[in-house]
This record gives sequence, C-alpha cells and structure tokens, in this order.
Amino acid sequence: MSDDVVRYETRDRIALVTMDRPRYRNAQNSAMTYALDTAFTRAVDDPGVAVIVLAGAGDHFSAGHDIGTPERDADTSFPRRAVPWWDHTGRDGADRRFAREMEVYLGMCRRWRELPKPVVAMVQGACVAGGLMLAWVCDLIVAAEDAFFADPVLRMGIPGVEYFAHPWVLGPRFAREVLFTGERFGARRAYEIGMVNRVVPRDALESATLDLAARVAGMPPFGLALAKRAVNLCEDQMGLRAGMDSVFNLHHLAHAHNAEVSADPLAGFDARAMKRAAE
Ligand code: ZN
Repeated sequence: MSDDVVRYETRDRIALVTMDRPRYRNAQNSAMTYALDTAFTRAVDDPGVAVIVLAGAGDHFSAGHDIGTPERDADTSFPRRAVPWWDHTGRDGADRRFAREMEVYLGMCRRWRELPKPVVAMVQGACVAGGLMLAWVCDLIVAAEDAFFADPVLRMGIPGVEYFAHPWVLGPRFAREVLFTGERFGARRAYEIGMVNRVVPRDALESATLDLAARVAGMPPFGLALAKRAVNLCEDQMGLRAGMDSVFNLHHLAHAHNAEVSADPLAGFDARAMKRAAE
C-alpha cells in the first residue's frame, strides 16, 4: 500500500522521498502519512544516506490533508508511532478528533522535524495547509518560482493548521496576514521573509535541490545531527513547542465549536469548496 503513494529512491548519499498522488495534488491521506514515515525511517536507518529530499510528484508539492478524495481514510486505524495516545477509531466527538490529530498531524510532523538527518523540501506549485506543515518540518526549503503557499483554514473557522509554527517561520506580523486573509503568497515573498532558502526556475528545481543536498551530505553525519538538534532546541527555547501545544488546544476548540453548531468539524468546507474559495 505504501508503495502506491510514496516513492523511495537513492542518489548517491541522498534519499529522494516523493509523494505520489499527483492526481489529487498529493493530498495526504493517512496511508501517505505512514508511508512517508516508513520512508523517512528507512533513510535514517541507512548509513549510506546523509540527507533526505522530500518532493511531490506532478505540478504541486501538496495541496494539504486529504479531506475529500475517494481514498480518504480518516476512519482507518494504523499502528500508532508518533504519540502514546489511544487509537481514534471507535471513539466519538472531540475524543476521536483529538486522538487522531495528535498522532497523524501534530505528532507525525514533530517526529519528522526531529529526524537526525537533514531534510530538504523541494517545492513546486501548491504548498497549502497540510502541505505547508510538511514543508515547515523540513530543515531547508528550495522553491520553484511557481510555488505558492497558504494556510486558508480560517475559512473553516479554524485558527491555523495543526502544526502551528506560523509566528516562528513567518514572523508574527506576516503570520497574522496569512492567517487573517487565508490568501496565497508566492515563492519570492517566502524568500524575502526567510521562509525558503532558494527560489529557482521550475526546470532547475530538481538540480538545485539535489545540489544543495549534496553539499550538505558532504558534512560529518554526527555533526549534522547535532547542528540540526541545536537549531531545533533553540527554536523550542524560543517557544515553538510550547506555543504549538497551546494553540493545538484552540484548534480543537474550533473543530468542536463547528461540530456543535453545524455537525461538521470543517464547517461545511470540503476540498472543492476550499479550492474555490482560494481562487
Ligand atoms: Zn484539525
């Protein structure tokens, strides 16, 4: 199953992990989340791999979490790996939603942020909501000129995606604009605020990303792991982890409010409605 949605290959000392649901703009269902986790673990366990590159097949990096494709699998149970919480299936209401998102969204993203090998995101086209979370947990981001970024979930009444890194990666002022308007911003703007490392033409995206990854791969592996951990620890000292924990509770207050007033935790927005609203 995992082979269907994520491809794994190696190029010298680089593991190239590719989300492979281009038909759905690489919308992440749980099958993809666990396949990504398996691929990352494989790369970590392979002493021949120094750096991981995360890519999306087709025209878009990722349009976000799967909230409407035929393979949506939110009701499916997978062996849990990210947090020591109970399984969401067979539970109701906020209990169910909290358990699932702790594991599949926040927990998995944090787990990947803490991989001991550097991860480089290679981003083209849409990098939206859950896609933005995925790019943010990567250490470096190379963006094509056609890349665009957005967190539009305030349209659902929700104050940002589950992995709430916004004030740290965007700065508080721009974070407010991105959240309050839900509008897209382009690769150039992302570069100006320091959210991405490189902006390159679309046809140079792969070569520029692999080139950067290869340069990182030449460094001593333990030193790299320590340097990555050093930055992560300092980000956490700057409040990232604690901030994210407190905002996750607000996120779930919003889901619960939506469910209470309309019996729909996404306030009536499916993938199509979100896409329309963003255009
Ligand atoms: Zn949520």
